[in-house]
Amino acid sequence: MEQKETLMTEYDIIIAGGGIAGSTAAKFAARGGLKTLLVERHKTPRDKSCSGIQFGYFEKILGEKIPKERLCNIELNKVSIVLPDGKSFSSPFKMFNFMRKPFDDWLNILAQEAGAEFLDDCVCQSVEEKEDHVIVNLVKPKEKKKFQYKTKYLVDATGLRPKIRTQLRPEDFSKESVGATINYYIDGNPDMDPETLYQFWNLEWNNVMFAWVYTKTLDDGKDYWVVGTGCNDVNVNERQEKFYQHIKEEYNLVGEIVKREGYKTSMDMYSKNRVWLGKNRILMAGDAAGLIDQTRGVGMDSAALSGRLVAKSILKAEKKGKDALELYTKLMKGVTSQTIRNQEREINIFKENSELQNYLETGLLKTGLAMLFHSQLNKLKSAEKQKLLPP
Ligand SMILES: Cc1cc2nc3c(=O)[nH]c(=O)nc-3n(C[C@H](O)[C@H](O)[C@H](O)COP(=O)(O)OP(=O)(O)OC[C@H]3O[C@@H](n4cnc5c(N)ncnc54)[C@H](O)[C@@H]3O)c2cc1C
Repeated sequence: MEQKETLMTEYDIIIAGGGIAGSTAAKFAARGGLKTLLVERHKTPRDKSCSGIQFGYFEKILGEKIPKERLCNIELNKVSIVLPDGKSFSSPFKMFNFMRKPFDDWLNILAQEAGAEFLDDCVCQSVEEKEDHVIVNLVKPKEKKKFQYKTKYLVDATGLRPKIRTQLRPEDFSKESVGATINYYIDGNPDMDPETLYQFWNLEWNNVMFAWVYTKTLDDGKDYWVVGTGCNDVNVNERQEKFYQHIKEEYNLVGEIVKREGYKTSMDMYSKNRVWLGKNRILMAGDAAGLIDQTRGVGMDSAALSGRLVAKSILKAEKKGKDALELYTKLMKGVTSQTIRNQEREINIFKENSELQNYLETGLLKTGLAMLFHSQLNKLKSAEKQKLLPP
């Protein structure tokens, strides 16, 4: 690639990745007065493979009310848990339901409105650590342009295949994909409730969490049924086909598959070192920090919270002459310890569906009550002290 120019623009903070963690960090950093640059590799608005479901406290963590036009047409008001033996339990539970394309676009706009500069279609390639700053190498592939910026802090918020973490800690990643998910969007009319999030627990369909069915609004403004699953081996297509057949037969979900999407990661999800918040002036947030939680089945809440807290830590470090990573590690203690604890009890410890069945039957009531208790308690707590659900 032709190197057209080398600009040494200086920032207080550069954030790589314009997803949930990066956009939230950029908004809070810029609002606090830091000269902030948010860099996103795709042209925005961009698609992101995600179920886009979150709990009520998500607005509190983001510090924003989510506008109706950024949500899907259909609200999710109920959860249905289907056990391996087919028995099911339902409970009313209100959740946000959105597509990541309009949602992340809104977050990108909020960051800019707070004063952050935003570069999309721009890849953060690598970093060079210096004594009191970081040099960030950026590429705009379409314009065949490479350039370097100087920053006091770099936040890697580039998701489950984090560019800078891979450079700094290649040992945390394998060459092969170690986890995958797949979704089909179907134009159908099954015997299912469109306002329910269905969780199907069965090791044959998903050996790391539940397989799922819910409704989603695509770019054409119409609603579709999403059938999806994931696993930690190479059999995701096989598992998805089996699960899809089951949904077709049991719930009469027949219709055209209008969209397929998939996602792979090579981060070692089972490593003791998966949760890592960074080193010196280079800090990790969201999935890049290893915060996605397969036991809870979500990651956007911890991504937003870490984005908010990484900005707070840097602002405080700058004001008080302290170490940002130390402050960040302290503020993140609750989230990191919950993630590490959950990592140890992920369902892939079960070899048979009967063991999973027993685990769910004995734990469901306890989890339900804990959800209820902490949802209420969270209403009294500050945004930064939210207990992530399920607790
Ligand atoms: C199939 C699936 C379903 C899920 N469902 C849910 C759910 O229902 N609820 C929930 O809470 N969580 C869910 N998650 C998890 C959730 O998607 C993640 O935890 C969340 O997106 C993490 O946010 P993030 O900001 O860390 O990373 P991301 O949202 O992945 O954002 C990273 C951004 O960085 C950009 N980027 C990557 N490399 C570079 C680079 N080199 N330079 C610049 N930019 C770069 C990417 O384009 C992307 O925009 C799901 C995940 C998957 C895969």
